[in-house]
Parts: sequence; structure tokens; C-alpha cells
Amino acid sequence: MKKIKRLIIPLFIVLSILVVSSCSKDEIVLSPTDAVGNSGDSGSGNSNSGDSSNSGNQEQGSEGEITLYKVEGDNISKIKDYKVSGQDLEYQKDVAKHNQIWDLVKKIVPLNQRSKMGEFLIYNGDITGSAGFVVEIKQDLSSWKMGIAINYAFEGSFNANGELAYTIIHEFGHVLTLDNTQLDSSISSGDCKNYYPGEGCAKENSYINELHSKHWKDIWSEYEEAKKDQSSQQKFYDKYKDRYVTQYASTNPGEDVAEVFATFVTKKEKPAGNTGAEKKILLMYNRSELVEFRDHIRKNLQLRGKGNSTSFELPEAGKWKQANTFGNPLKTKCRHRH
Ligand SMILES: [Zn+2]
Repeated sequence: MKKIKRLIIPLFIVLSILVVSSCSKDEIVLSPTDAVGNSGDSGSGNSNSGDSSNSGNQEQGSEGEITLYKVEGDNISKIKDYKVSGQDLEYQKDVAKHNQIWDLVKKIVPLNQRSKMGEFLIYNGDITGSAGFVVEIKQDLSSWKMGIAINYAFEGSFNANGELAYTIIHEFGHVLTLDNTQLDSSISSGDCKNYYPGEGCAKENSYINELHSKHWKDIWSEYEEAKKDQSSQQKFYDKYKDRYVTQYASTNPGEDVAEVFATFVTKKEKPAGNTGAEKKILLMYNRSELVEFRDHIRKNLQLRGKGNSTSFELPEAGKWKQANTFGNPLKTKCRHRH
């Protein structure tokens, strides 16, 4: 008996670490196969973000980490450079490119919202196949790290077709809908009376809880069945297409709310509300602080008006690269990850 116990306890600890670390990231992944492969890469550098690199013993990241910054208002200051070589070393030295990405983040996320971002990571997205991610760095969900893949940010040219801007909007959409104003991380799923996205229990009036109760609750058991494999996911999406701004949005409510936010921002016209998807966008129009956020982004990026194809920095609403894919169904129990 004792022997078994001795085995079980360490095993349990290892398993919990695996579960926690694989649930803790949201990413825009560029290739679904990469995303699956990446699920084995646990024990990433996330827990080490406080480390100093002054010792000369540089830490080597396991997920393409290049340089980690601390965010203070408009400015970023370097926390550490990861140990890298080859192309990644070139990326590390090219601080001007880091700043160019940061400048776009600043344009998109206003100062009052940016206070939720404690850290900013430049990384190479090849290993995880992701263009960006966010992860909480405080357990109470008050502070978040945003990672942007520098190789994809400059693919073709900087922010080609507005893909980088879209990534930033989508990723910040997660912070906006999962932070401590929206969720209570001290309530466990068992005690949660509202929607439970994984990081905590959604507050009654939160964006994600409203979306879930109005647009997911009635099809929840069907969704739970459908997420088991991709062909079921496809059938589920085909059946309820009208409810989703993109196919990707049907991955789970966490991705849905981020995609609805990104569509709400990028789509010029306020929709009439004829479809479920349009009704979801209108939920955001009902929230004055989100309308303000939208106005800020559109003004700063000088989004194209109708019939004006010059000066746009965003993909057309619903047309970003991975719009017609599903997130990894294995991750949906934790949360949204492409
Ligand atoms: Zn996402």
C-alpha cells in the first residue's frame, strides 16, 4: 500500500503540472498539426519570468522565447534575453523590430487597458506554430503576458495584410474577457454557477457569461459531443454556422468571444442583428466601454472606409488566415487555443 502511495503522489504532482501548464496558454496557431505537437511541450519558461539573467547563465526557452520585457505604461524595459542562436540571435539583436511590434500594440491597446499587461514577449513562432498568445502571470488574473511571434509579424512585410494587428486584437480580446474584472479565479468549477472558461468562474454580467448564456447554453450538450473529433466539430459548425463570425469562433466560448470582439472592431458597419453571429456583435455594441475601445483602435489604425481600399492595416472582418479552421479540440476543456 505504502509503495503505491509513494508512486501515486509524485505521479499526481507530475500530472497536475502537465495539466496546468498545457492549459495556461492561448495561442493563435498557424498550423493545426503543429498545435497538437506542441501539447507535449510542457514545462515551458512561463514560471521563470521573474528570473534575472545577470548571472550570465542565460535561460534557454523551450518555446522559441527570444526577449522578455516588462510593460510600464508606454514603455517596455528588458527583463531578460533568452539563450538563442542563429536566426533567433539575429531577431534578438534587432531591437528596432521589437519596438516596431510594441508600437503597434500601443496603437491598438489604450493605456487604461494596457495596465492589464505586465509582460511582453518576443519569440519565434516556429516551435509552437503560433503567431501570438496570452497567458496570465498573476493567479488573480489581474496581470497578463502577451507574446508575439517576430517571424510571423514580419512575414512578407511588417503587418502584411493586417494579420499582426488582427492577432493583437484577438489576443487582447482574451485578456479583456478573462481578466479579474470578468472572472473570479478563487471560485472553482464545482462552485461556479455561471460559465467556467478554465481560469476562473465568469461573473454574472461578464462578456463571456452573457455570450454563453444567450448563444451557447441551448446547444451546449451538442457542442460537448461535437468537440470530441474534428468531423463532428465540422458538422456542428455547418449546422450552426449562422451563430459564428468565423469557423474558428465555434471552437469554444473563449475563442468565440475573442473572435466576436475582433469582428466587432474590424467590421465597419453595425450589423442589423439578423443572424446569431450578428446578435453576438450587437452584445458588444451594448457595452459603452467596448464601443470606446473599438473607436480607439479604428481611429489609431485609420481603418479603411467603405469603398476606400487605401490605408488598411487589418484583414477584412472574418478573413484572417486561420478563420476557417478549428482550434485544437483537446484543448477546449482548458480553453481556446488554435
Ligand atoms: Zn484565441
